[in-house]
Amino acid sequence: MKLSETNIQFLSGVGEKKALIFKTELNVISYEDMINYLPYKYIDRSLITPIKNIRAEMQNVQFVAKITNLQITGNGRTKRMKATAYDNSGKIELVWFKGIKYIPSQINPDTIYLLFGKPNLFGGKMNIVHPELDVYENVKDRLVGFQPIYSTTEKMKKSIITSRNISNIIYNIFNNIHGQLLETLPKRMLDEKKLINRHQAIYNAHFPVSTDILKQAIYRLKFEELFYIQLYIRKEKAKRKTIYKGHPFTNVGDLFNNFYASLPFELTNAQKRVIKEIRQDCRQEKQMNRLLQGDVGSGKTMVALISMLIANDNGFQACIMAPTEILATQHYNTIVEMLKDIPVVVRLLTGSTTKKSRSEIHEKLVDGSLNILIGTHALIEDNVVFNNLGIVIIDEQHRFGVEQRAKLWRKNAIPPHILIMTATPIPRTLAMTVYGDLDVSIIDELPPGRKPIDTIHTFEKNRIKVFEFIENEIKKGKQAYIVYPLIFESEKQDMRNLEIGHKQVNDYFSPKGYKVGMVHGKMRPSEKDEEINKFVRKDTHILLATTVIEVGVNIPNASIMLIENAERFGLSQLHQLRGRVGRGAAQSYCILMTGYKLSNDSRARLKIMTETNDGFEIAEADLKLRGQGDIDGTRQSGIAFDLKIANIAKDGLILKDADETAKKIIDNDPELKNEENFIISETLKKLFKNNFMWKSIG
Ligand code: ADP
Ligand code: MG
Repeated sequence: MKLSETNIQFLSGVGEKKALIFKTELNVISYEDMINYLPYKYIDRSLITPIKNIRAEMQNVQFVAKITNLQITGNGRTKRMKATAYDNSGKIELVWFKGIKYIPSQINPDTIYLLFGKPNLFGGKMNIVHPELDVYENVKDRLVGFQPIYSTTEKMKKSIITSRNISNIIYNIFNNIHGQLLETLPKRMLDEKKLINRHQAIYNAHFPVSTDILKQAIYRLKFEELFYIQLYIRKEKAKRKTIYKGHPFTNVGDLFNNFYASLPFELTNAQKRVIKEIRQDCRQEKQMNRLLQGDVGSGKTMVALISMLIANDNGFQACIMAPTEILATQHYNTIVEMLKDIPVVVRLLTGSTTKKSRSEIHEKLVDGSLNILIGTHALIEDNVVFNNLGIVIIDEQHRFGVEQRAKLWRKNAIPPHILIMTATPIPRTLAMTVYGDLDVSIIDELPPGRKPIDTIHTFEKNRIKVFEFIENEIKKGKQAYIVYPLIFESEKQDMRNLEIGHKQVNDYFSPKGYKVGMVHGKMRPSEKDEEINKFVRKDTHILLATTVIEVGVNIPNASIMLIENAERFGLSQLHQLRGRVGRGAAQSYCILMTGYKLSNDSRARLKIMTETNDGFEIAEADLKLRGQGDIDGTRQSGIAFDLKIANIAKDGLILKDADETAKKIIDNDPELKNEENFIISETLKKLFKNNFMWKSIG
């Protein structure tokens, strides 16, 4: 019998109607699906309590008793059924509000029952409402361990599919299948890793008899889950490396050399190392797919620029894609400035590029005379055609969907090299699954001379002091950002907060002759640019902003970042915002302003922010606080594995082991053709056949 094909519909207690609900609610159709639906917690059912020892404070209680004295009382809404359960030690009342019609027929005064429920004190009397009821004889063999508790949806509850039903169905399946579940890991791996076999693992994950076996079961299942994910990622990566050709950039040309020689500063060692890694990748006739991770201000743009010049030196075009118009424009300005003595043609293409210059750009792209194109996703519109696109740089990738990226590189017969830059450090463990198919370069060093940003957390009552502090900095020639949370820019309340804030800031600073600018998401791009340009030109001293400035804006003279309602921001957002300052040589400050009412999580976030400037440390803390589901860059990048049992935030060590194991196998047998990898290969095919959510780049 093939478990994957046997429908649960024909199991006793299921039937057509419930089977349909299992399908629509849980995507559970077959035996196999059902046994893979694991409990989320367990209740110790080995304990049987004499009735006289039952106390109202108990979470729940289990006892063995006969039931007598069934009676229906009340009418309409107050209608209920009562009965008395008794054992040798005492008696307790049972109460039902529902099922009054059919429960009496199920209860026989001579039968011994196992009862389970939450004791309550009601009018001085102990009772149990809607106890779980089983014939003791039928279940006594299962009272050796823990009762699995399965999550159920609203719809399931309405159709009276309880956790208890699920447990019975699964128990039934195990009774029906006779013999062992197929193993999905090779024997050598079980031996080496001391893992219990799959049958034992799944059975005990549902019906553990001890905490020890439960631990082993969970461990084995987590390992298996993570192992196959890592194996898939590594296999795909190996495959891509053999399939996709790339343009070999073998020349070291004048553009690169001259630019390098003209740099006003020495590259950091980390920048040098990363450039070397990129060079090595691009020299091959293989497509580079590299992720460049570096904290804000670590100098990624410089690395991007050099990579593009390498492409140009080899006769190829390059483009850089930024998530917003402001950023694209800023990249453009920076790059044009840096390349002013280098003979390359650079253009900017965004949504607000005029028709005339747009068609000029299109022409130059096609004839190859345009070397570097900088823009927003206007770059991936279908009418943008390159002559020979050699490399694509994607800035702040988590704002781009995988589809968009894919579209970009499908523009050529031979795909361009891809360099994705992100300032969102993600913990190493998460990186393994999220970016597992990419090679990763890390800039783990800031340019010299940067002073760590001073971060403090303060409250509204200190506002005037904070303003005085800002005023003092402005007197020294510095500038300040004040950021408001506009989580949903459409929300009236948020807009009002910004307006009130604006008035408050204006009232304080304007009379003293300081100018206040403002940017928010509702402004037209040209208006935003104008406001930011004013700030860059130091025409304004303070820039009020919503999170539109979160990513990438580089204004080294700004030395204060005041974040209003800081408790409303996530950790990685706070860190990104803080990264807008501390970009020059001066001491910079980040002030986190909050209300007095703070949740524990908010408090923890603010504390971490005041304790460290290290993006990786913050990312780790973020992962711990939020769990894996919410981390930036996982969902958005479209790479979401639906983990059934493992938790990347907690199972880092298992993941590491699983990944190393997978790597060894793929290194030796990239296509899993060897006899010894037969089980693995078959399982992988099955797992990632239909419902696979992974989308690699392209
Ligand atoms: P990121 O994009 O990683 O946030 P940027 O590339 O914008 O960082 O660099 C931040 C600032 O540091 C820029 O003003 C840039 O010119 C400067 N910078 C980059 N590399 C160096 C370096 N090696 N030494 C000194 N300054 C540098
Ligand atoms: Mg940047």
